[in-house]
Amino acid sequence: MTTKLKLWADAVKARDGRCLDCGSLEDLHAHHIKPKLTHPELTLDVGNGKTLCYRCHKREHENNRGPRVRREHRPQRKTLEREYIRMRDRIKLLEAQNRNLVEKLTKTLTKLKHQTDKAA
Ligand SMILES: [Zn+2]
Ligand SMILES: [Zn+2]
Repeated sequence: MTTKLKLWADAVKARDGRCLDCGSLEDLHAHHIKPKLTHPELTLDVGNGKTLCYRCHKREHENNRGPRVRREHRPQRKTLEREYIRMRDRIKLLEAQNRNLVEKLTKTLTKLKHQTDKAA
């Protein structure tokens, strides 16, 4: 958490003083009403903050599809990147293998040519 974000969270919690959903005074979190992802300009806006306890905060995020969709997209991107790297390495390997094969066949061909020349 950046210092600015911590100051924002402290300001939100100081203003509310309790969980706005259940009134709990323990384990308070400052929650962004409009997600940072869709409203980055409101990230440090105290008016966009809401104090929630740990349990209510967790529930709030479970009900809110925004951050969940974001989390699902991340592994997907990672999977694609892994797939990309695997494919690239496979191509490199095939290139290397084919290079070896071409060299080997070229040597055999040269040898065959020498033998042919000698036989003639
Ligand atoms: Zn609560
Ligand atoms: Zn939150």
